[in-house]
Amino acid sequence: MPFGYYPGMSYEAERRVAVEVVEKASRLCQTVQANLVSTESMSKKDRSPVTVADFGAQAVVTHGLRGAFPDIPLVGEEDAAELRDAANSQLRDRVVANVREITPEIDCDEVLDLIDYGTYEGGAQGRHWTLDPIDGTKGFLRRDQYAVALALIERGELVLGVLGCPNLPLDAGRPDGPRGCLFVAVKGEGAFLRRLGDAQEQRIQVSDISDPGRAVFCESVESEHSSQSDSAKVAEILGIEAPPFRIDSQCKYAAVGRGDASIYLRLPTRKGYEEKIWDHAAGSMVVREAGGRVTDVCGAELDFSLGRTLSDNLGVIVTNALVHDRVVAAVRLVLGL
Ligand code: AMP
Ligand code: MG
Repeated sequence: MPFGYYPGMSYEAERRVAVEVVEKASRLCQTVQANLVSTESMSKKDRSPVTVADFGAQAVVTHGLRGAFPDIPLVGEEDAAELRDAANSQLRDRVVANVREITPEIDCDEVLDLIDYGTYEGGAQGRHWTLDPIDGTKGFLRRDQYAVALALIERGELVLGVLGCPNLPLDAGRPDGPRGCLFVAVKGEGAFLRRLGDAQEQRIQVSDISDPGRAVFCESVESEHSSQSDSAKVAEILGIEAPPFRIDSQCKYAAVGRGDASIYLRLPTRKGYEEKIWDHAAGSMVVREAGGRVTDVCGAELDFSLGRTLSDNLGVIVTNALVHDRVVAAVRLVLGL
């Protein structure tokens, strides 16, 4: 071992703070989800539901990150424009009240400023965080799966990913057992699972299935986010017999990372959609460090250096690495690429 090299010590502060803020945001989400009523959701311009917890979680995460790393900007999914609209004052008050439960010292203006801190444009320069405060908002509203997803990007490359999955069973084999997982991965150091709120970590690994026919594949619950008809054709070509495992959010990456599934397909539903970096950064880091592979539908690496979207990529294919090339070939055949 070279002098001065301590395994597990790189990005130590970033890892510690990222885990801490994702835990706090996950707690906020759990509280809001437990008390969810219909007035707490509203329509964004794109009509996707967004809740008090989306905004609150972004404020809580930003507060912790900005305090510890004031020079690292953030690419976040949300901004506070709608909350600043007087018509949404009730929602704004709920957001502030929920944030103050976690960080009592904060006032309303500060909460709105924190949410707006996520407007950085990203790119290949320096370092930036990317955050999806609640990935899988639709799953959250159904009281199903969702994730708080935070990653650190350095010169366009992923170096750290943390995924909070408050409703995910700790053990996939015991779906009625304890829930609440946190996945953390640092480049070159492997991927680890913790129980939310517990500092003990256990290394995770992708499955060792090499016959795609024996694989379980996951995909979105929402058919507008990934073509379920094309994935059915891919499954047929690969001889996959198990039904698709449909689960919201980057919990799909977690499922591949710890071997519950071996494939995650995200196949384009319409021309021109660009995947957002916050929908893939943390999950990709977890899967790669667990021994898996992540590419687009053509087999190209995801390029996180281009700004807020993966503008050079089309769709996403995630596997345990062993079946990757065959899955890409089947997808290309189905999509005519
Ligand atoms: P999932 O829970 O995997 O279905 O993904 C949820 C994410 O899908 C949201 O965070 C959105 O950013 C993203 N999304 C919205 N529209 C699309 C689309 N047409 N294709 C792919 N992803 C989308
Ligand atoms: Mg999302």
